[in-house]
Amino acid sequence: MHELGIAEAILRIAQAHIPPGGRVASVHVKTGMLHAIVPESLAFYFEHLARGTPLQGARLEIEEVPVKVRCASCGEECCLDLPIFRCGACGSADVELVSGEELFVDHICISEE
Ligand SMILES: [Zn+2]
Repeated sequence: MHELGIAEAILRIAQAHIPPGGRVASVHVKTGMLHAIVPESLAFYFEHLARGTPLQGARLEIEEVPVKVRCASCGEECCLDLPIFRCGACGSADVELVSGEELFVDHICISEE
């Protein structure tokens, strides 16, 4: 159900940006891995909700942003596979979140008809 709410938000944002007479070819979104979104599920809901709207047939392109932290001890930036917030270089837990929280519509591709 998590993905359903996100799909609704994406549709709302995309619909607000369609120019008159334009048709949306694709909607590009970035999802930080901290949100644990299932891309297939999000695409399914998007397609379902887009039926009968100007976004019908638009492709949803999902870019997953890895969880990345910066270590305050050694300055290294590491990508984490698991949400265990420890520096991959020196093992310090004094890290700052760099990416992984993203959840936004990056851009929308319009095709003029
Ligand atoms: Zn470190």
